[in-house]
Amino acid sequence: MNAQTGPSLPTYADVEAAAERLKGIAHHTPAMSSATANRRTNASLVFKPENLQRMGAFKFRGGYNAIASLSPAQKKAGVVTFSSGNHAQAIAYAGQLLGVPTTIIMPNDAPAAKVAATEGYGGQVVRYDRYTQDRLAIGDRLASERGLTIIPPYDHPHVIAGQGTATKELIEDAGPFDILIVPLGGGGLLAGAALAAKALNPGCRIFGVEPEAGNDGQQSLRKGEIVKIGVPKTIADGAQTAFLGDLTFPIIQRDVEDIVTVSDAALIDAMRFFAERMKLVVEPTGCLAAAAAFTGAVPVEGRRVGVILSGGNVDLASFARFIAPSV
Ligand SMILES: *Cc1c(COP(=O)(O)O)cnc(C)c1O
Repeated sequence: MNAQTGPSLPTYADVEAAAERLKGIAHHTPAMSSATANRRTNASLVFKPENLQRMGAFKFRGGYNAIASLSPAQKKAGVVTFSSGNHAQAIAYAGQLLGVPTTIIMPNDAPAAKVAATEGYGGQVVRYDRYTQDRLAIGDRLASERGLTIIPPYDHPHVIAGQGTATKELIEDAGPFDILIVPLGGGGLLAGAALAAKALNPGCRIFGVEPEAGNDGQQSLRKGEIVKIGVPKTIADGAQTAFLGDLTFPIIQRDVEDIVTVSDAALIDAMRFFAERMKLVVEPTGCLAAAAAFTGAVPVEGRRVGVILSGGNVDLASFARFIAPSV
């Protein structure tokens, strides 16, 4: 990194290289539409259901691309990451497919289902106490002791490029669009989407969507620098990130029109819509972009709009609670 020019940012060429690596390995998810959604919004919406991606979220794309891009020696030594969400499962699964050992650092109180899923994909889970121990320090120590390569969940050029392949497919299959709407946590998905959209569909306006409770990205865009917040309280657990990255923020600042927010209630409404009308299980975070179209947080009337549904990993008990009719 250079203090004057900043880190060198990934480009659309990196998204194309990721698409080559992922060919025949990641699912090419469909482009889907719904007459009901179009009537409801007076727009033409095209959904990209990454809940149907391998391991249930777009994170497989970035995780696989990052591990596949390592040198033979790095692959042999293995990788480490810290996450209890979809990135952990993506790294574990991609490592299993590529024969690369994976270590996942998870808090002692991580949901048992997530630990089991990660172990089921072959990841070695290392537990820590999140009240007394620092996961970054544990990651650094494991990396230096065992020669592991750290693969962070969003602020990494190959992760961003891999995530961009979802938008590349969507635009190639169903574009061009007037507007593209993308869920936003740490910004890997949105930055990758921006690289693809600006190359393939330069007139498209790009919006990121955060949960109302955690609008650090919106604040960062307004302020022109990365704003850090406390861990937000929201059902969108995939977007509980507290700050954007040194790579994702400059791309978002350069290419993204605006960042808007939606409430948890709007996420639940969207989950119900996808289950009932489109027979899709979409997790709360996966509904961020759609909820912005449905509520008008992004004005879509009269437009052709690409909408990323980012994932579908929600345990059945929670899903049932979310979609149960409120009486
Ligand atoms: C991680 C995740 C996000 C946010 O992605 P970022 O790259 O961190 O912005 C959105 N939706 C789902 C389902 C996720 O797992």
